[in-house]
This record gives sequence, structure tokens and C-alpha cells, in this order.
Amino acid sequence: MTVLGPVAASELGYVDAHEHLFLRTPALPGDEFLDEAKSTAEAAAVRASGIGTVVDLTPIGLGRRPAELAKLAAGAGLHVVAATGYHRSAHYPAAHWAREVSDDLLLDIVLTDLTSGIDGRDWAGPRPVPTTVRAGIVKLGASYQRITAEEDRWFRAGAQAALQAGVAVAVHCETGTAAHEILDRLAELGVAAHRVLLCHTDRNADLELHRELVSRGAYLVYDTVGRIKYGPDSRILDLIEGMAAAGLADHLCLGTDVGRRSMLRAYGGGPGMDVLGRAFLPRLERRLGRDLVDLIMRDAPTALLALARGD
Ligand SMILES: [Zn+2]
Repeated sequence: MTVLGPVAASELGYVDAHEHLFLRTPALPGDEFLDEAKSTAEAAAVRASGIGTVVDLTPIGLGRRPAELAKLAAGAGLHVVAATGYHRSAHYPAAHWAREVSDDLLLDIVLTDLTSGIDGRDWAGPRPVPTTVRAGIVKLGASYQRITAEEDRWFRAGAQAALQAGVAVAVHCETGTAAHEILDRLAELGVAAHRVLLCHTDRNADLELHRELVSRGAYLVYDTVGRIKYGPDSRILDLIEGMAAAGLADHLCLGTDVGRRSMLRAYGGGPGMDVLGRAFLPRLERRLGRDLVDLIMRDAPTALLALARGD
């Protein structure tokens, strides 16, 4: 399910599985990016780097602009899958409505985004502005080493909505932690590991752990590509090589998650959202071959993004 409607899995091409095309969060003051022309330029560079689909994992209340996302997708010639759901607690102000409203309303808001259209003001006001731009994945978040009580409420809403709509669930794992606990909790809520994408797992570059998580059925996204402060890109290549040696690379995805204005070329920053296709994939192909690139960039994310009915 893309922002321009349903697309056959075979049409997605290479998938960048973790980006943000618009973002604003109190956790990153001064680093927001909401300019449509600049985001479209960034998306066009991603398209030019050989990528056909971007998964925008921006959750509720963090600056989603559904109508502009649809225009951006058309303008850049890129498939865009939008998200709904709730991030980890740190991304919402103390008095945010998501902390206050009932479980039923938490669920209804996510389901509306998935089944009819994302609110045009990103649920920022009391009167929704309907759009027909539907979300195609649920995004949730957990804190460092644990799922807090309010995050668990958001997990319940997100899991139930994902099951009803047949979409996958992506989860922010803070510094790559609490991954087993997240899979356990989602399983209790009815979401099987093979419908879960664990984000930021490369921040915790523990090959044994990654093999355990994929052996449970989960998908991992290595999403610090090009963000060198977290470590050299070579460590991601090493992780992929280790997973491929264990026959588990078919559950790996890639992304850059350059979720700051200062990391986007359109704002004069770097490395730019296209760093994955422009710089990393050629290295990956040289090291491990084209078939492996196809597996990680096309087959794994396509399987995850396919809508499941009665799953
Ligand atoms: Zn992100």
C-alpha cells in the first residue's frame, strides 16, 4: 500500500526500508524538515540512485504530511509507503493527547490512517482533515532496554490495527536493544515475528543476537548506512556477510534513517538520503555480489510489505 494506492509487489524495485521524508520532533529541536520542494529533491536523488521505493517510517504526530507525500511520490517517480502508529515516549511532549486518550481511540486513529486515509494535519487538532493517502505499515517504538507502560498501550493499538489491516509492524529498538522483548510482546498481541521489522539493530552490532532474531522469523533493518558517527559502513558490510554465511540474509533490509535536516543534501547537509544507493550498494555488490543485493534490497522488504489477509 503506497501513498498513491496499492502497487503490485513486483513493481516496488529496490526498497529503502527506513527513511523520513518529512519530520518534526521535540527530541531533535532545530533539525526538523518539512519543506516539500527540498524533500522532493532528496527523494529524486534516491530514485536516481536506483531505488524504486522508500518506506517512510514517520509515526503519528511527528510531522507527517500525507498530501505532500503523495505529490512528492508522483514528482520524484518513487513509490512511498507511509507509516502510522506511535513512536517511543521521548518523541511526544509531556501533555500530548496520545498519552491521555482511551485505548479505543488510540486504535481507531491508527486504523483510520490504514484503511481510509492519514489525517491531513497528522492528528494535530480536534477536527480531522480527511485524505485518501493510506498508511502501509505500522511504526512503534520502545525505550532503551524496555517497553514503558505507555509504549505498551501504543503497542496494543498498533498490533491490533496491523492485524486488522494486514500490514507489517516496524519497531524502533533504541540502540538496538530489547529486541527479543519486543518480539515476545508482539507475539502475545498476535503479531508473528515474520510480520515484524526491527529497526536500528545495527546499532547493536551483535551477530549472534541478529541470528537469533532472524531465526525467530523477524526482519532486521540495518539503518545507519552513511551515518558514520555510529561506526564505519564496513561494520554493516561485515554484519551482512555474517548473516549471509548463516543463510539468514533473506530477512535483512537496509535504510539510512537520515532523520535530521543536517543530514540532508537539500538543506546543505550530508550524507544525503541517496547515500544507500549511491555509495553503499556498490560496495555491497563488490563484496557479496548482485544476487545478495537483490535479496536484501528487493526480496526481503517486498515480502514484508505485502499485505497479509487473515494471517
Ligand atoms: Zn527513523
